[in-house]
Amino acid sequence: MTPTPWHTRFAPSPTGTMHLGNARTAILNWLMARKHQGSFSVRLEDTDRERSTFASEASILSSLAWMQLEPDHPVVRQSTRLERYQNMARALMDKGLAYPCFCTEAELQKDREMAASKGLPPRYTGKCSTLSPEEIHKKMEQGHPYTIRFRVDQNIPGIEFTDLIKGLMNIPIQAFGDFVILRSNGWPSYNFAVVIDDQDMGITLVLRGEDHLTNTARQILLYKALDMVPPRFAHHGLLVDTNQHKLSKRTGAKSIPELMRAGIHPLALVHYLAGLSGAVKGKHIVGSLDELVERFNPRRLGRGNAVFQMQELEQL
Ligand code: GLU
Repeated sequence: MTPTPWHTRFAPSPTGTMHLGNARTAILNWLMARKHQGSFSVRLEDTDRERSTFASEASILSSLAWMQLEPDHPVVRQSTRLERYQNMARALMDKGLAYPCFCTEAELQKDREMAASKGLPPRYTGKCSTLSPEEIHKKMEQGHPYTIRFRVDQNIPGIEFTDLIKGLMNIPIQAFGDFVILRSNGWPSYNFAVVIDDQDMGITLVLRGEDHLTNTARQILLYKALDMVPPRFAHHGLLVDTNQHKLSKRTGAKSIPELMRAGIHPLALVHYLAGLSGAVKGKHIVGSLDELVERFNPRRLGRGNAVFQMQELEQL
């Protein structure tokens, strides 16, 4: 049997400039692909219509180019694939695995408050999951807006998978109820679009931050419902400051364009961020990207958070 080729991807949401955490995810995905003679793709997740901008897209792509992390395939843009997501949502409805939800935002908010007052997780009550075909038809005829929700089987104790970095994982699903896959404007939710895209693009490894673990559980349920084989998953720890706070603009972390303007050398940044994971031999040596690939050992990718220190980067 021929081994599955490695195909990784970096999937930023173009809602701002690239920050250090994203850059590290991009670098690790690029390295995983190069290390295994595979390929690396970039996908722009621009389904948040209010917050996505062309300026952010351009800035993110130029940050990638500055770090020399060129994709091997044309860049994919989710906003061009709406019909595909809508067809797949319809297929799930036909199988009875998804249903239209007519609850208004005000109703959902009231339910969330009710759950919170009882100390319960703010999950959807499942109210619309039992509507009869006649009731659904009537509401649609009357022009009520609706989302499409995926039916989550609450009897499953948890979602089990083997994470390439963290080992065997079991994510409890009690925290989330039936979740939205298509919004009332026909645009997909993050989890739904990602599953269809990763499948269509032939992605074989999804490597991203551990803040996506519960999303991975949702996505595994969707793969199963769509009769698709999930890719392998790996979740890296987060990038934190010396006080263990997640790096963010608020805690003063610089964006990639800011580092670029501050005169940081792109190879120094790429080597430094790759080295923080513990998987690069001689982490303080800056060389070519080919040398970095050579010194990168994916088996040594650490599970914990990575501490970013500006001074260390400036000294490279
Ligand atoms: N657009 C998501 C983000 O920026 C991507 C997560 C993923 O890699 O699936 O967090």
